[in-house]
Amino acid sequence: MNDRIEKLEQAILAKKHWLVVSHLNPDGDALGSTLAVKHILEQWNIEHTCLNLSQIPNKYQILPGIDQIYQPTNLDETFDAVIFVDAADRERIGIACEQCIKEDAFIINIDHHATNDQYGMINWVETEASATAEIIYQWVEYSNRIDWNSFLATSVYTGILTDTGGFRYSNTTPDVMRYASNLLEKGVQGHELADILLETTTLPALELLQRALTHLQVDGSIAWTQIDQHELNEANAVESDTAGIVNYARNLEGVDVGILFREVEPDVIKVSLRSRLETDVASIASYFGGGGHTRAAGCTIKGKLPQVVERVIKHVQKEQGRA
Ligand code: 5GP
Ligand code: MN
Ligand code: MN
Repeated sequence: MNDRIEKLEQAILAKKHWLVVSHLNPDGDALGSTLAVKHILEQWNIEHTCLNLSQIPNKYQILPGIDQIYQPTNLDETFDAVIFVDAADRERIGIACEQCIKEDAFIINIDHHATNDQYGMINWVETEASATAEIIYQWVEYSNRIDWNSFLATSVYTGILTDTGGFRYSNTTPDVMRYASNLLEKGVQGHELADILLETTTLPALELLQRALTHLQVDGSIAWTQIDQHELNEANAVESDTAGIVNYARNLEGVDVGILFREVEPDVIKVSLRSRLETDVASIASYFGGGGHTRAAGCTIKGKLPQVVERVIKHVQKEQGRA
């Protein structure tokens, strides 16, 4: 661990300006990990720019430093040193972010996805970690150069809180609970973060859920639902309002795989997959060109909504030995 941290820190200290990026449609781990790295670079007085291709959902305004994660459209600079967090492959950050990176840039890849393809010059990939933020927790703990402060602790806690579904998913290990406990002792407002990031919803999100549930279908241990662009507009909803809908399918009694199909552009379907106990949804998502974790994965498939639904459901049935 110490060797790894020394190598990572020496590489970071050797460069003047770092770009910090994460995946599009960022979740709490993507944003928490981006901000955690930002707070580390701030302690070291190293210049940095944080980018995310997508609009950041309002609820994350509670996180310290969030207003300094910019959209790449605001800038025409390019960077020769980049830290990727919570991104399984380079494509996950989106083309506009990728265009900010010089061809011969030095890349650091910190991630926990099983499908990570080791695209960095330094790769710190721990597939057993509950969140990328858990890896950063260990970095800070073992480092001699970083001090915990409430901003750093809040960022790390946010990643772990959200990627464990509020300490409920199977990635909630005894270590995770110990780390969370230590972070609370450093002053993290755990209840406030849980209330805003996990419990609070918006009217458009509820109206979208209402529409999505009218499409709920069940076949054996697979449940799925869908949303098209028309419904998204009708509900006055945005992309991030779809988060959580897939859990309604997965949480149904007797279901092992829950799926949400949503039309992001005409004939472009984003598929979110969740599994409860048995099915490896990362391998299903990989088959369709995406990736993720055993219990939560995703991919984007071109085609008409009904045809994409049919292809994916058939493939899941096959994986379950039913077709
Ligand atoms: P979600 O369904 O919430 O978008 O994503 C669930 C998990 O799968 C997350 O860990 C996310 O990073 C991963 N994931 C979602 N879509 C893709 C994709 O298109 N490619 C890859 N590699 N991972 C994805
Ligand atoms: Mn993520
Ligand atoms: Mn993550």
